[in-house]
Amino acid sequence: MYQKNLLAALAAQTGWREWQYYESDLAKFLLLAIPVVFIYGICIGSFLNVVIIRVPRGESLIKRSSHCMTCGAKIRIIDLIPVFSWLFLKGKCHSCGEKISPRYPIVEALNGILYVVDLLIFGVNVNCVIMMLFTSLLICIGFIDWDTMDMYIPMLLLIAVLAIPSHFLTYIPLKERIIGIFVISIPFLLIGEISGAYIKKKTGEKVRGIELGDTILMACAGALIGWKAMIPSAFIGIILAAIFGLIIKKVTGKSKFAFGPYLCMGLWIGAMFGEEITMWYIKMLPHEETVQYYTAMLMH
Ligand SMILES: [Zn+2]
Repeated sequence: MYQKNLLAALAAQTGWREWQYYESDLAKFLLLAIPVVFIYGICIGSFLNVVIIRVPRGESLIKRSSHCMTCGAKIRIIDLIPVFSWLFLKGKCHSCGEKISPRYPIVEALNGILYVVDLLIFGVNVNCVIMMLFTSLLICIGFIDWDTMDMYIPMLLLIAVLAIPSHFLTYIPLKERIIGIFVISIPFLLIGEISGAYIKKKTGEKVRGIELGDTILMACAGALIGWKAMIPSAFIGIILAAIFGLIIKKVTGKSKFAFGPYLCMGLWIGAMFGEEITMWYIKMLPHEETVQYYTAMLMH
């Protein structure tokens, strides 16, 4: 049976205020599973670093670089442990002392931590595995967009491919997925087209308010997580982009920045908690009849 939110299950079994939850089977399981999933996550994160660096350059993903980029010193096996090697080396090459970007351990740790949250939210089932793959794709898409202001269409389509096993193995109905494809992508497409035409008329530049990659991302993600998760995802993404956009403008003076990383953050949060946010919002609607109407519509 599909079970969402292991932490809620743990709380329901024992009550958070009681210490006995340390003795429940679920707690014992989590104490073992969390470190295992975290280590698995940081190892996958190490591969994501390779993807983020090499895909935009069109380089092979399989060949491991075995030398320091600055001094050419051979990278030892001990230097390849995700997160911990960087900490152990204090972020420097063991031979020449050249700084190693903190981006590497950050991506690794991020993937590890988000995998653990995926586990806690979705439990041990196929949906959790699908969500972990989605998480890693979002990390790659977000960081590559941050670096290059570009998205890779095959990566976006992989999200849509994940929707196929997700449809057969999880609980989101087809109708919600189909609405999910269009609910955000259509407004994004319209905003992109209209702003593009307006900017072109005013300045002659070929710039769009929302790029086509962002639009395709929202369509593919909608097929995977459904409209109930997509609406809060988009809201959270746009709010994060607005906040960070202002900060970026203040710090660097640039008004153009990648939208993708914030959309990816929004999508991840939406995939985890979006349905609950939508249901919570609808329950707050003022009229009893409206609440009943929407609740009936949302219960499938
Ligand atoms: Zn070196």
